[in-house]
Amino acid sequence: MRGAPSQVNPANASSPGIIPMASYKYRHLLSASEDLVFDHDHPVGDRASLSGIYRCAACGREGVVKEGDAFPDDHSHALTDGPVRWRLLVYADHRAK
Ligand SMILES: [Zn+2]
Repeated sequence: MRGAPSQVNPANASSPGIIPMASYKYRHLLSASEDLVFDHDHPVGDRASLSGIYRCAACGREGVVKEGDAFPDDHSHALTDGPVRWRLLVYADHRAK
């Protein structure tokens, strides 16, 4: 298993105070979206309606969740962060292109 990318493209460098999120290399294979599905928080145990990379809005951890699977409770964060809340970061479209 490969680790996290060793370097971040300077073109994608974040602003001071902003924590970087999921990384990618091939920009042409991703597209930006304003869809409201990216604005919902999902609690642990709910079933995902979309496959993709999700980010815990409380602590920033990222994880892959498949459509139909339960959102996991497989990590810990400070109690002061509040409950685990998963938010879609990158939608994985399984349809053939
Ligand atoms: Zn968390």
